Amino acid sequence: MAGVLDDAEIARALSITAHPDDVDFAAAGTVARWTEAGIEVVYCVVTDGDAGGFDEDVPRGDMPALRRAEQVAAAKCVGVQDVRFLGYPDGRVEATLDLRRDLARVIRQVRPDRVLCPSPERSYARIGIGHPDHRAVGSAALDAVYPDARNPFAFPELRERESLAPWIVREVWIAGGAEPNHYVDVTDTFPRKIAALRAHESQTGQMEDLPGRLKGRLALMAGQAGLPEDRLAEGFRVLDTA
Ligand SMILES: [Zn+2]
Repeated sequence: MAGVLDDAEIARALSITAHPDDVDFAAAGTVARWTEAGIEVVYCVVTDGDAGGFDEDVPRGDMPALRRAEQVAAAKCVGVQDVRFLGYPDGRVEATLDLRRDLARVIRQVRPDRVLCPSPERSYARIGIGHPDHRAVGSAALDAVYPDARNPFAFPELRERESLAPWIVREVWIAGGAEPNHYVDVTDTFPRKIAALRAHESQTGQMEDLPGRLKGRLALMAGQAGLPEDRLAEGFRVLDTA
């Protein structure tokens, strides 16, 4: 197992994801445990998920506001009140210097001990996990953690114009990667994860047996973690970035 910091050592955590609903599919059970432990969690969502949904009757122009509202409601289900959107176009995210600067800005504003982000790697096992936006955000988030947010000479405008001091994130939790090295038992917070996912009505409204499907996947991870048969777990690759 990785040398993971105890939740008691963590004051603030920042989740960086590409789309509204990503954090809830990947990690809402874990986020609920963090907020229950007294950690202040902030969400940063890079796009408004404006290319998502299945209902052709919803005007596409309404989608950004709808999906933002869904993510804010989902966040409340797991104890998160602070949700920030960067407004990048869904489906066209690249790990540009602009995105790295925007993420470094949020890291310096929030000053998190722990950052949660998607994997920058393609998944051959589950193609949806390696959505190009996820990979771009994962790559830019890791670059923002190291070196951008901590290097006082990276993006000097953040210091000079916005008075944002450098910040060192102590650890990063990568969700959806091929090789998890840390598992969180989310059996007790599973109902809160389901409530959060149901809040994304435009995405999950048509999914049949959402709890059953999720349970299968989370039980598999609990098995990998060596937990008893009736447990559910979310898996992460935890990196020491201090
Ligand atoms: Zn996504």
